[in-house]
Amino acid sequence: MTHPRQRNVSAARWNADDVAFGIDDLTRPQNQIFGVDAFSPAVQRQRLPKDVYKRLQRTLERGEALDVTLADAVASAMRDWALEKGASHYTHWFQPLTGSTAEKHDSFFGPTGDGGAIAEFSGKELIQGEPDASSFPSGGIRATFEARGYTAWDPTSPAFILTNPNGALLCIPTAFTSWTGEALDTKIPLLRSMDVLSRSAVRALRLLGDTDPQRVFTTIGAEQEYFLIDEQYYYERPDLQITGRTLFGAQPPKGHELDDHYFGSIPERVLAYMMDTERQLQRLGVPVKTRHNEVAPGQYELAPLFETSNVAADHQHLVMQVMEQTAPHYGLICLLHEKPFAGVNGSGKHNNWSMGTDLGGNLLDPGDTPHSNLVFLFYCSAVIKAVNKHQGLLRATAANVGQDHRLGANEAPPAIISIFLGSELEAVFEAIEAGEGDPSAPGSFLGMGTPVLPPLPRHGGDRNRTSPFAFTGNKFEFRALGSSQSLGLTNTVLNTITAEAIDELADELEKKIESGTELAAAVTEVTAETYTANKRIVFGGDGYADEWQEEAARRGLLNHRTTPDALPELVTPDAIALFEKYEVLSEREMEARFEVLVEQYGVKLNIEAETAAQMARTLILPAATAQIKRFDEAGLEAPTAEVRGLTEELYASILKLEELNRKEGELNDMNHILFQRDQVIPAMNEVRRVADRLEKVVADELWPLPLYSEMLFIK
Ligand code: ADP
Ligand code: MG
Repeated sequence: MTHPRQRNVSAARWNADDVAFGIDDLTRPQNQIFGVDAFSPAVQRQRLPKDVYKRLQRTLERGEALDVTLADAVASAMRDWALEKGASHYTHWFQPLTGSTAEKHDSFFGPTGDGGAIAEFSGKELIQGEPDASSFPSGGIRATFEARGYTAWDPTSPAFILTNPNGALLCIPTAFTSWTGEALDTKIPLLRSMDVLSRSAVRALRLLGDTDPQRVFTTIGAEQEYFLIDEQYYYERPDLQITGRTLFGAQPPKGHELDDHYFGSIPERVLAYMMDTERQLQRLGVPVKTRHNEVAPGQYELAPLFETSNVAADHQHLVMQVMEQTAPHYGLICLLHEKPFAGVNGSGKHNNWSMGTDLGGNLLDPGDTPHSNLVFLFYCSAVIKAVNKHQGLLRATAANVGQDHRLGANEAPPAIISIFLGSELEAVFEAIEAGEGDPSAPGSFLGMGTPVLPPLPRHGGDRNRTSPFAFTGNKFEFRALGSSQSLGLTNTVLNTITAEAIDELADELEKKIESGTELAAAVTEVTAETYTANKRIVFGGDGYADEWQEEAARRGLLNHRTTPDALPELVTPDAIALFEKYEVLSEREMEARFEVLVEQYGVKLNIEAETAAQMARTLILPAATAQIKRFDEAGLEAPTAEVRGLTEELYASILKLEELNRKEGELNDMNHILFQRDQVIPAMNEVRRVADRLEKVVADELWPLPLYSEMLFIK
């Protein structure tokens, strides 16, 4: 057996030589890589016949349906471009309800009949694919006898080329539906919700006197947190490999989590990894912007600039994919699980969200003119109303098995949804409600109030890290999402609930204007009324404090602590009525999502519980037994008795867990996942509690698993 510290020595000895790609002169155009692997509008302009390009752009700008006659021309240009870049295959790249992405590769080349082959790729192949859909979850939508599913090209998200050392693949972002036309993916509802929001928001803009914007886009900037650990440790931990998190592991000594990690300098190997990841993402046209260390040791963050929701959601998947695939080149593993290490801060994904017009305006920017302030107040009120009314739905979109370790655990927002407006903006709403402030001038409230500081842009305003839904200057930041989650469902919900609230406020505004109230006064009244009716959702205090739990209960806010509590919110009569009314998701489509999410919880917990039992029995129990033998042979009575006692406790806890794991139950059944939450999780925790105590008394060389201190601190 090698010395137990040996693997740490080799993990720490990383050296850049074989993976470094050197330094480019970035003033030279050929070294500028942004978007070179994306079939972006810029490439389309170069490659497509002028009239085709114009018609395509017009279609996209207006969010209209695609004219199929365009497809052949686009397909031919896309094929030539992809072949030049070395792509031998293409795939319709889509996002099934698993929350990840799927691809099925087809070769461009078809036989000519005379022994040769030519590159074929027609508009038909661009527009539609027919993957075997039977292995993707459909939540009961698609019976196996009608297993066909279709993928349909999404022209609003640029195609891109993924390269690997042995070739390249053209990826065409697509939607995925059943043959009966039901959405089997996360993209279709997101696109529908963007349309719906645009319609409502443009209607309101007209009432507000803005005649120019033709379309409103929602935007997302997602900040991605993740862990990096050396791959040696990873492959020595079955729990990390199988479940993405450590099911065992005692906490490192207190105070080890040194403050200087957060925003501290980035270790060399990690920085090399980040630069490589960013380069690949830039080539794909993902506008990655910032990188830094996060709060926990071994934890980091990457954030791109915001983009249109649909493109941002696609790009988010690429971010996760490239991050995971690049890490092994540096001897690292990238962990996207929400809680890889118990007792150490977990990872989230902040969803910065706003609404912008096709003319570049941001509806959630207070602006500099009295008019833009009115517009801002109107849309901001709508968001407050939407989040208050549908807090449960929003909470449900952030639910998964990993999230239950994070939300409400003083490291992520509480499970109670509330809105943080910032003291200045909250004062504005309070003043308007009281009939005091000048509603057309909220911008003027947002000065720094000290003569020595320059008037900072409002975006620098105050912060409340504990709030799940915070106004941050010109956007709202939904902070409850987990690091492994897709942006699709959350933003589908955000867009749809906001569309509904905008419509309701617009109805009110319309009535007031029709009855002769002038615009500014009418907006003020609507703002005041909306704020009064919904202000229970506004909270600027400490979301981690126990008092907030009580205060929130008094206010009647929901507090769904776990996934099984939260998921039924997806299928309440209110939620179904909303989504049916706006034709974003039908009842069947909502039920399907609910069912798939319940099943994912059940399956993942089951895998965790079985892995925990197996590891405890086959790795930890033998180590403990060896330790008993050692002490016993050395004639040490008290230590022998101590380890023996713990070992027997461990064995009993394993038996208990195994018995619960054998319990019959459908993993997609609500009752079964409640049983898992209430019985299986505590049994797993008990096995872990004893095992973690054993870790502290069993000889280091006998302990079979890398320790937290090794995984987290050796970089
Ligand atoms: P933080 O202080 O939380 O790290 P940043 O100011 O760095 O926040 O921005 C976080 C994210 O917000 C970035 O991805 C940024 O692009 C995004 N963002 C900025 N403006 C908008 C907007 N109008 N819509 C959506 N996201 C936006
Ligand atoms: Mg943030």
